[in-house]
Amino acid sequence: MLAVKISSGEASTFEAPKPRPRAGHTLLRLRLAGICNTDIELLRGYYGFSGVPGHEFVADVVQASDPKWIGKRVVGEINLACGKCESCLAKMGRHCPRRTVLGIVNHPGAFAEFLTLPEVNLRAVPKDIPDEHAVFTEPIAAACEILEQIRFPKGATVAVLGDGKLGLLIAQVLRINQLHVHLFGRNPGKLSIVKPMGISTRLIPREQPKLPKAEYTYVVDATGSAKGFEHALDLVKPRGTIVMKSTVAEPLTIDAARCIVNEISLIGSRCGRFEPAIRLLKSKQLMLDPLISNRFPLREATSALEHAQQPGVLKVLLDPAL
Ligand SMILES: [Zn+2]
Ligand SMILES: [Zn+2]
Repeated sequence: MLAVKISSGEASTFEAPKPRPRAGHTLLRLRLAGICNTDIELLRGYYGFSGVPGHEFVADVVQASDPKWIGKRVVGEINLACGKCESCLAKMGRHCPRRTVLGIVNHPGAFAEFLTLPEVNLRAVPKDIPDEHAVFTEPIAAACEILEQIRFPKGATVAVLGDGKLGLLIAQVLRINQLHVHLFGRNPGKLSIVKPMGISTRLIPREQPKLPKAEYTYVVDATGSAKGFEHALDLVKPRGTIVMKSTVAEPLTIDAARCIVNEISLIGSRCGRFEPAIRLLKSKQLMLDPLISNRFPLREATSALEHAQQPGVLKVLLDPAL
């Protein structure tokens, strides 16, 4: 089968053996995959990654021990948990210390014609959600995770930093949940995508980024850059909360004194449960089509990964059928 691999900071396509699912695992045939910033970070050395990347996908089940799955169109939770440890028994498999992670940690990812995942990770995609939307399930779940971590007071105002793919999704998810959202970004075109949803946008000039000081109780950093955290520290009020959504390859230098003196709560935030994301997709309230920049054949994945790094580009999809 055709698959993509990253090794020593380079992406390439190669002919891989079709994976054989272990007991309890299913064999999935890829329908569509999405390139995430994490994939770009893996290319740049995040986790010292080498292997098949890809964790945003929609696929058909070809092999499963439970026949009810066969032929189903599915998405899949990306953390493969042991199911036995303290975290797993507390339903926190996403924090299982023995977990592997699809396309990120020790489990071959979705940038391939076939992939495997445990049956327990699968979620069926309702018929009325097209592949182009279902492929966003994982990043939408990551956006929804913020709502599980923080109980926002009704109608609170949240500053979201970053008008990339994840920032645009987070802004939408918070807005749909009746919060006031101020989205800060550098790209007028990207910012304008979510304006019709009642999200107010603030353009930050690249040369002289001027940000309001200490104006928000809640700030989400989704810039994907180390600089974003500094900007979040500018924006947040004393006793406020910063949600850290950026996974950056290089270590982050934090001005701890500013956090301590102003008693800022820092909340790290990663993956979320898929159920709320699928419900949101079904409700059709999200604007996803304008977030798709391009669709490449899977065999042109290296060009697609390059394209995804160009400024102004949002979601790039990989299609094995093209
Ligand atoms: Zn991702
Ligand atoms: Zn476990």
